[in-house]
Amino acid sequence: MNFKEYIRVIPDFPQPGIRFKDITTLLQNGPVYKEAIEQLRQLVKDKEIDVIAGPEARGFVIGAPLACALGVGFIPIRKSGKLPGETIEADYALEYGKDKLAMHKDAIKPGQKVLIADDLLATGGTIQTSIDLIKQLGGEIVGAAFLIELSYLDGRSKFDGLDVVSLVQY
Ligand code: 5GP
Repeated sequence: MNFKEYIRVIPDFPQPGIRFKDITTLLQNGPVYKEAIEQLRQLVKDKEIDVIAGPEARGFVIGAPLACALGVGFIPIRKSGKLPGETIEADYALEYGKDKLAMHKDAIKPGQKVLIADDLLATGGTIQTSIDLIKQLGGEIVGAAFLIELSYLDGRSKFDGLDVVSLVQY
């Protein structure tokens, strides 16, 4: 399936010069969304995975159905101030802008094997911060799965030795 046909590219969003890959047009198509999750499942099914962690918000729409398909748990990585329990936080830089990500302190048990999932890998800043948080909690990162990878930004080169998979590359 050519998933690119279902991803809308919006120029100059959220700021001039950015060509935003809008996945809402893929998500609204049930069979295509289902097939995307199934193909990601195929790519990671042979890994030992205890939980999937995904960053707010589009990491949820990829990570949570993938976790369900694999029968493992899902852990939300959220923007600062959103999680109700005790958290750890870390700063991160985006392709455009800056923010803070947080996880519950008890979200991961030491030694648990964690797959990170998100809609899109750009510079890799979000994933780097997610990895830092997961490692602080004692988790072991077993890979990262994305619907889309912006290969021209070469985000994956930041993660030497990490198994990075994606369905669509630009
Ligand atoms: P990075 O931290 O790798 O530079 O940026 C990736 C993060 O920013 C992801 O969480 C992703 O949701 C968001 N992002 C950046 N650019 C785009 C884009 O063009 N389309 C979508 N859907 N998300 C983007």
